Amino acid sequence: MAKTPEEIIRDDIRALTAYHVPDSSGMVKLDAMENPYELPPALRTRLAAIIESAALNRYPDPGARRLKARLREAFAVPEGVEVLLGNGSDELIQMLVLASARPGAVVLGVEPSFAMFPMISAFVGVRYVGVELRDDFALDIERTLRAVEEHQPSLIFIAYPNNPTGNLFDAAAIERVVRAAPGLVVMDEAYQAFAGSSFMAQLPRKGNLLVMRTVSKLGLAGLRLGVLAGDARWITELDKLRLPYNVSTLTQMVANEVLQHGAVLTEQAAAIKLERGRLMRKLQEIPGLTPYPSDANFILFSITHAERVFDGLKQRGVLIKSLHGSHRLLANCLRVTVGTPQENDVFLAALIQSLNA
Ligand code: PMP
Repeated sequence: MAKTPEEIIRDDIRALTAYHVPDSSGMVKLDAMENPYELPPALRTRLAAIIESAALNRYPDPGARRLKARLREAFAVPEGVEVLLGNGSDELIQMLVLASARPGAVVLGVEPSFAMFPMISAFVGVRYVGVELRDDFALDIERTLRAVEEHQPSLIFIAYPNNPTGNLFDAAAIERVVRAAPGLVVMDEAYQAFAGSSFMAQLPRKGNLLVMRTVSKLGLAGLRLGVLAGDARWITELDKLRLPYNVSTLTQMVANEVLQHGAVLTEQAAAIKLERGRLMRKLQEIPGLTPYPSDANFILFSITHAERVFDGLKQRGVLIKSLHGSHRLLANCLRVTVGTPQENDVFLAALIQSLNA
C-alpha cells in the first residue's frame, strides 16, 4: 500500500502552517508594499510590442546577460562585484540558506523582521536564531554581537530598511556586525528606493557582505525578480544551485525595457515618499494612534484594539496587514502600505470610522 503524507512528508514541514495571502479582490489593497501606480500608457504599449516578439517556444537566456547589465546600472553595482538573479528576492534567500545548510549551521536575524528569513530556514531544516530589537525597533548592538559570538552564524540577514518596522538601523552598528560575523552578512535592501541609504558601495571593501535588491517594491512585483550582489567567490558557489531558467523570458524582456526607462519608477518612488509624509502627519493627528518613523513605502502604527480596527477596515473595503500577535514588540500593531493619495484618503476615512464605530 502507498504511504501516507504522515509517513513521507517531513514532520517539521507538516507542522508548518502555509504562508497566508488573504483574498484582496475588490479591496483597496494596502497590505503588501506594492507600488500603487501603473506604468505610463506609452510604455505599456511598447511592452506589448516586445512581448509579441518573444520566442516563448525557447527557454530563456539562462545567464540573463542583457538584464544583468541593465540591473547593474540601475542599482549602481560597483565594478568587479558579481550579481545573481532570483525569481524574486525570496528565491535568493532560499539559495543562500540552501547553500550554507551544513550540519549544525545557524542563520541569524533580528526580530521582528521579514518572515521569510525564519520560514525558509525552517524549510531547509537550518536552525534560525532571532535577536530581539530594542523597544524602539533599533538594532540592539550588544545583544546582537553577543548572539553572533555565541552562535557563530553562517548567515546573518538584515533588512535595511526593516520590514515590518520601517526603520533603517544604525549603519555604524551594522558595520560592527559585519566585522564580527564569522560568515556572510546579507543586507536585504528591498525598500532602498524609499530610503536613500545603501551598503551597495561598500561591497568591494567588505568580502563577507552581500546586498540584495528587488524590483517588487519599485513597481514590478508581478515580474518576480531579485538581485544579489557581492564578491564573485560567493556568487559563483550560489549560482550552482540556481535552477537553470529561474528568470523567465517575459521577466527578462519586460524588466529590461522598463529599467531602460527607469526614471518612471524613480518618479513614482518620489511620489510615494511625498505621500508617506502626508500619511504620517495624518496618522499623528489621530488620538490613541502611534505611527513609527518609516524609511520604506509603508508605515507601522500601534493602536488600541488593533484587531477590531483591522476588521473594521476590512469591512469597509480596505486591506492592510495586522502584525498583532506575531511578536511581543508588535502587540496592537498594524502596517499600512503607502498608496495613491486617493487610496490613502479612503484608508484614513475608513480608519476613523472604524475607531468611532
Ligand atoms: N525582503 C523583504 C524585507 C521584504 O519585505 C520582501 C517582501 N515583502 C522581500 C524581501 C521579498 O521580495 P520579493 O518580491 O523580491 O520576493
